[in-house]
Amino acid sequence: MDLLTPKVADIVAHAQSLSGDLTAEDLGLTRDDLTLRGTLAVGLDFRVAGKTICVTGVLEGTAIRQCVRCLKEFDDPLAFAVHVVYERASKPPAFPMKQVQTARKRSGVVVRVHPEEEPDDNLYYYSGDHLELAPMLREQLILASPMHPLCQEDCLGLCPQCGKDLNEGPCQCTGELADSPFLSLLGRQGRAQNSANR
Ligand SMILES: [Zn+2]
Ligand SMILES: [Zn+2]
Repeated sequence: MDLLTPKVADIVAHAQSLSGDLTAEDLGLTRDDLTLRGTLAVGLDFRVAGKTICVTGVLEGTAIRQCVRCLKEFDDPLAFAVHVVYERASKPPAFPMKQVQTARKRSGVVVRVHPEEEPDDNLYYYSGDHLELAPMLREQLILASPMHPLCQEDCLGLCPQCGKDLNEGPCQCTGELADSPFLSLLGRQGRAQNSANR
């Protein structure tokens, strides 16, 4: 059974657990979405609840993000749980599933079978005889990404004047402190305080 396209009939027959390693390509992730270092370990459990299919599981891997302060790329360990529900779509799909998949592979664009915005982030639809997990996993990964990634909590960022990465040490632009005789005594500590007050 394919991890990304489990058969509904199999899940209905008995609860399923699937796991495996997926690449960014498998998930339709573009560089604008998220960059993964290596693969993403995915473990998912499927069970039927009434007319819906509940999917719970854990995603683990490493994202490569860019720090909003110093603009450096850094490895960001990723581990989070997903809990989503699939409902059968009331309308039949516009194209057979196979064509959608082929179109997606060819264009590199994720084709949404249901383009209308869903108010519930955790509700997805399926049609045909299997679930399409790649668009859901891609979306969950994007939703779990920080809005303002930081390489470290107290990243000092770049000097607004000369652009030097202040994590690597002070630059020559010292602003108002330039003439202070205490500057050499303050050193990094004073600088860290300055940035904390910003
Ligand atoms: Zn940084
Ligand atoms: Zn500077």
